[in-house]
Amino acid sequence: MNKIKIMEASVKKWNKIIAGESADGGVYDCPPCRIFYFLICFGCPIAEYTGNKFCKGSPYPRWYWHQVEAHDKIRRKIYCPECLKLATEMRDFMIEIVEHLKAEKEKKEQESDLKQS
Ligand SMILES: [Zn+2]
Repeated sequence: MNKIKIMEASVKKWNKIIAGESADGGVYDCPPCRIFYFLICFGCPIAEYTGNKFCKGSPYPRWYWHQVEAHDKIRRKIYCPECLKLATEMRDFMIEIVEHLKAEKEKKEQESDLKQS
């Protein structure tokens, strides 16, 4: 299982929402949720990064509550400038995690190179 690929799929999901081509289906269409959620949210790269389960500490709750309070629609997508801002924050946060995972992977590879030489 490649966490970097999963998080890159998340970046793509939010890019589509930002472009107005898609809506947010939460757990049902979140690439890491589909693999890690299972009601207990275990081992998700977002949870590992924030140290909190269920996307706490990420921009997601702000996006979610803005959708509920300001729009109250079944489809969570871009309705106003605030939606756009929050979706962009979420996309940027996903990019941050991808970069974090890549840096960690590189560090591990360098460490194993050192051991071999
Ligand atoms: Zn809005």
